[in-house]
Parts: sequence; C-alpha cells; structure tokens
Amino acid sequence: MINICILGATGSIGHSTLDVVRRHPDRFSVFSLSANSKVETLIEQIKEFRPKSVAIAEIEQEAVLRSRLTEEGLESEVEVYAGPRGLVEIASNPESELVVAAIVGAAGLLPSLSAVKAGKRVLLANKEALVCAGRLFMSAVKEFQAELLPLDSEHNAIFQCLPDGELNGSGCRRILLTASGGPFRGYTKEQLEEVTPAQAFKHPNWEMGKKISVDSATLMNKGLELIEACWLFDVAVDKVEILVHPESIIHSLVEYEDGSQLAQLGTPDMRTPIANALGYPDRIESGASYLDLTSGPALNFEKPDMQTFRCLALAVDAAKRGGSYPLFLNAANEVAVQAFIEEKIKLTEIADLVEMTLKFANDREPETIDEVIELDGIARQRCLSCLNEIIDASN
Ligand code: NAD
Ligand code: MG
Repeated sequence: MINICILGATGSIGHSTLDVVRRHPDRFSVFSLSANSKVETLIEQIKEFRPKSVAIAEIEQEAVLRSRLTEEGLESEVEVYAGPRGLVEIASNPESELVVAAIVGAAGLLPSLSAVKAGKRVLLANKEALVCAGRLFMSAVKEFQAELLPLDSEHNAIFQCLPDGELNGSGCRRILLTASGGPFRGYTKEQLEEVTPAQAFKHPNWEMGKKISVDSATLMNKGLELIEACWLFDVAVDKVEILVHPESIIHSLVEYEDGSQLAQLGTPDMRTPIANALGYPDRIESGASYLDLTSGPALNFEKPDMQTFRCLALAVDAAKRGGSYPLFLNAANEVAVQAFIEEKIKLTEIADLVEMTLKFANDREPETIDEVIELDGIARQRCLSCLNEIIDASN
C-alpha cells in the first residue's frame, strides 16, 4: 500500500488523480490532501478518502474548515494544517512516500520542493516550479535522491518514449513537443484582441483549471512546457521543437539519430499520464477511454504561429537567455493572466505585460530559493506597475 499526498487536491489534476486512486483501493491510500480555499470540496474528499491530515493554504479558511470537520464528526480523525507552512508540513511528512504536486503557479514551488527534499517519489504537474527555479529544483532531486516523474501529458509522453525516462546517452536527436494550438488557433491578431475569458476557458480537447486554460489560449503554456522539458530531460532549448497537432492524440515524440520517431498516443485525458506515473513501472487502469484510431479524427500537424501568439515567442526567447528571464516571464504571466480573468486587460495585453516586465530581468540566475522568492515578488511588483500603466492609458 502506497501512502500518497496530493497538493492541490481540489483542482483539475487533483480530481483526476483522486479518480485514478479511487480505482485502486488495494494499491493507494490517501494520506494527506491540500486545498487553497475550497473548503466544501475538501470536506467531500475527506469524507470519501479519509486522509490523516489536510492543509488549507488560505489561513482565513482554517476556522471554517475546522468547524465543518466538527459538524461532520471528523475533527479527531484529521489533523489540520494551514498556510504556506502547512503545505510544506504535509508535503514533507515521512509517512507519505508519494507526493502529487498539483498546485498551480509559483505558489507550488516551496511545497513541491519540500517533497523533493524529503526524498520522495514526486509526480510533478506544477510546471511553474521548474520554470522559476529549474536548476535548484533539479539539483535537489539529485542531492536528496528523490524520484521525479512528469505528469504533464507531453512530458509524460516524452518520458515514456525514452529508455528508462533518460535522454542523455539515449541517442535522442530532438524532442517534438506537441501543442493543440488552443481555442484560438488560426485567429488573426485582430480577432485575438476581442476574445473573452469565457471563450479562453473552453479548450477544444482538455478540461483544465482557469490559469492553464488561459495559458493554452495564448500558447504561453507551450513556452512554459518547453522550459519544463529542458530541465526535466537536461536538454538544450534548440533541441526541442514545438509542433501544433490540433487533435491532441499524439502527446509528444522523441526523434532518434537513426531516423526513428517514437510517439505516445492516447485519448486526451489526464488520467492516462497520472496513472502512468502513479503506477510506474507497472501499468494500471486509469479510467480513460481507449483510443480507436479507425474511428477518430485524421491527425494534422502544423508549425506554431509565433507572430500572433507572442507569448510563445517571449517564452522561447526567455528560455534561450536563461538567467532570471524565465522567472520574470512566469511571474509576469501569472499577474497578467489574473488581470485578464478579471477582465482588466485584453488577452493580447498579456504578452505586452510580460514583455514590459522582462525588461527588468537579467542574465544572472538566482542561486538560492530565497533569492527566487525575492525576485518573484519583485517581478510581480514590476508587472503590477506596468498593468496600472496599461489600465490608465486605456481610461
Ligand atoms: P486548478 O486551478 O484546477 O487547481 C489548482 C489547485 O491548486 C487547487 O487545488 C487550488 O486549491 C490550489 N491552489 C491554487 N492557488 C494556491 C495557493 N496560492 N496556495 C496553495 N494552493 C493553491 O489547476 P490545474 O488545472 O489542476 O493545474 C494544476 C497544475 O498542473 C498547474 O501547474 C498546471 O499547469 C498543471 N497541469 C494541469 C493540467 C490539467 O489538465 N489541468 C495538465 C498539465 C499540467
Ligand atoms: Mg501539457
């Protein structure tokens, strides 16, 4: 029986993970769960999975959670932690051996890293952690002998197409990172200026949280994934090519020196990569439907339109520059996406804000996690000032 901790249990990846876990009561036991603020969803999960501990990130929700647990007669069964420290507490508790890191954004960095530092098997969905602190994160994986398995569908596909998940020494020539192109594929610049958050949330193939849905609509998601792939597989930026594949059936490919390309295919359902990583090296049922290539759509491929989808161009550039550029890119994007969701700016202004904020980045890579946190805060401040400029100019 494997005791698992799910960070970000109330989100889209959290739900999919619990759905896979539900199918294997003989294999997995839920030891701990975390949520940001959704107390009711967390209560439902506690009632079904009976974890020993939970963490609620928003301190103000701790009292609400405690009183709801009392109402349900569960207060003596579950230990409650709160705030960022609470997340780190459950992520590093030695009684759980596997941690699913599914918090969205840089907020996931410290808890994901603390699971790594506890030497656990860590299933990583929280790509922003690698974007803002890739080198520090990967060296902690080595130092603390953690086992890092990718949950992002593309990275999990690449992992499956490499011998033992290892790129170095495999004869890999390049990685083809697939992208659906998002809900606005084929749009012109002018059309892109008019889109609403509701349209951005409607991804053609995947159901995801709001932030990653907007990232998929701007193609920033693919840029973040490019950086994620470089850290995960220790590969140079120019060895990763982005390939738009609107049907999301091929989840990525690895090309070898001999001309072979290996791909991983499946219906677009996150439960497949989640089950792959949860069961690794065993193959376990995920609940996803099986792919029927005779009845599915024809598979299409094209190059990404980096001129219209400027976020992708900015991310590729930040990846090449290194230093603090990826960190500034990520922080500015988080601030800008939130502003778009709150209807303060247009979708196209996300790229404007990221570009303005990147002017404050430089070639020096942060050397400690404290420095990462400090720079992340500075980048957010810079981006907020740029946001106010944009808002003032449009009034
Ligand atoms: P989501 O918004 O549905 O869920 C996010 C989770 O994080 C929730 O449980 C929320 O409570 C928690 N959270 C949010 N802010 C927090 C904070 N400040 N402190 C602590 N917890 C906080 O997001 P999601 O779609 O599940 O995505 C989660 C991560 O997985 C992201 O990094 C995303 O890029 C990645 N990912 C998601 C998918 C997908 O299909 N949803 C696919 C690949 C990768
Ligand atoms: Mg992905």
